[in-house]
Amino acid sequence: MKSTANTLLRQWSGPLSADLVRTLGNFGLGQVPARLMPDATAKMVCGFCSTGCGLTAHLKDGQAINLSPDPDYPVNMGMACPKGWEALTPLAAHDRATTPLLRNPSTGKLEPCDWDHALQVFTLKFKALLDQHGPDSVAWIGTGQITSEELAFLGALGKFGMGLRHGDGNTRQCMATSVVAYKQSFGFDAPPYTYADFEQSDVLMFVGSNLCVAHPILWQRVLRNKNSPEIIVIDPRRTETAMAATQHLGIAPKSDLVLLYGTAQALIERGAVQQEYVAAHTTGFDEFSNFVQQFTAEVTCKCTGLSHAAFEKFVSSIERGKAVSFWWTMGVNQGHEATRTAQAIINLALMTGNIGRPGTGANSITGQCNAMGSRLFSNTTNLIGGHEFTNPEHREKIAHTLGIPMERIPTQNSWAYDQILDGVQAGVIKGLWIVATNTAHSWIGKHKDLLSKLEFLVVQDMYSSTDTAQQAHLVLPAAAWGEKEGTFINSERRFGVLKKVARAPGQALADFNIFRLISHYWGCDGLFREWTSPQAVFQILKRCSAGQPCDITGIEDYRHLEHAGGIQWPYPAGAQDNSRERRLFENGRFFTPDAKARFLFEPPKPVPEPPDAEYPFTLLTGRGSSAQWHTLTRTDKSDVLRKLSPSKLYVEINPRDAKRLKLSAGQQVTISTRRGETQASVLITATVQPGNIFLPMHFEGTNKLTLPVVDPYSRQPSYKHCAAKIC
Ligand code: SF4
Repeated sequence: MKSTANTLLRQWSGPLSADLVRTLGNFGLGQVPARLMPDATAKMVCGFCSTGCGLTAHLKDGQAINLSPDPDYPVNMGMACPKGWEALTPLAAHDRATTPLLRNPSTGKLEPCDWDHALQVFTLKFKALLDQHGPDSVAWIGTGQITSEELAFLGALGKFGMGLRHGDGNTRQCMATSVVAYKQSFGFDAPPYTYADFEQSDVLMFVGSNLCVAHPILWQRVLRNKNSPEIIVIDPRRTETAMAATQHLGIAPKSDLVLLYGTAQALIERGAVQQEYVAAHTTGFDEFSNFVQQFTAEVTCKCTGLSHAAFEKFVSSIERGKAVSFWWTMGVNQGHEATRTAQAIINLALMTGNIGRPGTGANSITGQCNAMGSRLFSNTTNLIGGHEFTNPEHREKIAHTLGIPMERIPTQNSWAYDQILDGVQAGVIKGLWIVATNTAHSWIGKHKDLLSKLEFLVVQDMYSSTDTAQQAHLVLPAAAWGEKEGTFINSERRFGVLKKVARAPGQALADFNIFRLISHYWGCDGLFREWTSPQAVFQILKRCSAGQPCDITGIEDYRHLEHAGGIQWPYPAGAQDNSRERRLFENGRFFTPDAKARFLFEPPKPVPEPPDAEYPFTLLTGRGSSAQWHTLTRTDKSDVLRKLSPSKLYVEINPRDAKRLKLSAGQQVTISTRRGETQASVLITATVQPGNIFLPMHFEGTNKLTLPVVDPYSRQPSYKHCAAKIC
């Protein structure tokens, strides 16, 4: 069987006959290629978070039997968090999807079928919907968890091949705000930093970021900083990172925008503006300066709840810092005025000249392992390679580069995730294809019932047991990280290589191969003749990136990436810079037409759902522990990781509130919002302020409660704030 599978792998670059497709489905393509068998080790990047640590897989008979952190990789230098050490365990879980599953209309149950039948049904059902209801009627939701090559294939297949108008990624839930903020301020979605900046700052400011827990290896990079830095955490909750900081600004929830504007005003009053830098490299500072005059220290302290002394100390730290770096994550991105908050951070970096130098920057830290790949190559709201659908020159370039007719490229952006789900609610979208994400669990507000409105739901995932897969009409079994090859891009713009070091179970196929099969069944494989392997698609992505800020035409191939320890974009053809840590904007030139960064601002808005007499608490959400990942589909498979985190939902309550409500530790309570209710056990702790409660985001019960409001610019959900009560 092994030699047959390998023969088929070799044939895979040729045209696909129906027989071959059937046989491929029967044998599966998730098998480890023979060329990997003799190796004792294989180096690759981790498949959980955006840190992008290098791991070494230790092989026996070509199969990974263990992992260790790579001491030579410039990201993690021999360190890994618990998820990285346990990354192989989820592959062996009993609930892996091993065969396509089709829902039997008579029994209502998902039943196994072969790939040929599954893909015929996929094609017939979606084509029928498109024929009857038009190109808005079928959409896809992707992910930041599959490779860049797969994301590009999904996006190209969906839009150019299948003729769908709408597709978005679960990256909308975590990174859309940073994308929009950077595009508007810098002219391109361009996180400017390199991880060395953690070690080179003398002041580090973290806004809405629990780095210790969410990005533990990046916190280790902070701890390597030899400058005895001032570490400032701005967060309403006293997180693990706040406890380790030199200053914790425990502000009122969602008062961060006022604090940032007030800080700008205080710095202006102190004459701490780098006028030369502002004049040479930015636009809009005078208007910004006029605007922030209203945010006096008094206004700022009243709104945020900070003491004048704490505020003054904080401003002085920024003023005195020689290399100040400003970092943010989901506490900023997941808010009702998130884009302007991110830009208020960017404004501070610009006005103080803290950008483009070691230890500086306005730095968004990404979430998922390939959120950055999704941002650049998924062909959803950006045309492949950070281009614009609305720009005819961009469409022409990509059409020419891919060898496809220009008419196949939409002239408008896709609907965003929330708009796609609104389309489902309104009955406009009748077919949905969800790839490697658990929408029913993770989407904001009450959502589970929404998917039942669909006439045809396809879920492509490594597990058939997720909340979302359990609602599907068709489940396509996918290979996991470690069972396929490709590239991820980490938070600091570094391409890293993923290797195939394990067999996918049963008939599970790499997402790449599933897309290839679908293109064949759909009848559009002629558009994808060159898309024969991840390595071939990497060459296509290189060509698409040419001339863009993310130009990678100088990267030769996967081997080059591996030998270099990953390579950060940009790396254009002829690049001579072999340094392993590179940052953007060292020359003060941004990606806007006039090469200047823009000061962008707007009056703060009240929170959409403030606490009131009926719902008197403010519900905050966030990560639980470094051993948990998102909806727990993978991390819950590991005995080790389960032991490192609470198994049941808990709610953090301040001791004063617990006393007032006569609650005791461990007591089961009901947390309710206007969307629903969930059970949680009481954890009495001063990490939350009186009047606030906190739920970890990894449990479905939490996301039933959150408020389905999005930032108007990024359309990213505002998970972090709503009104709640405890019963
Ligand atoms: S920090 Fe992130 S990339 Fe590194 S080992 Fe942990 S999960 Fe993997």
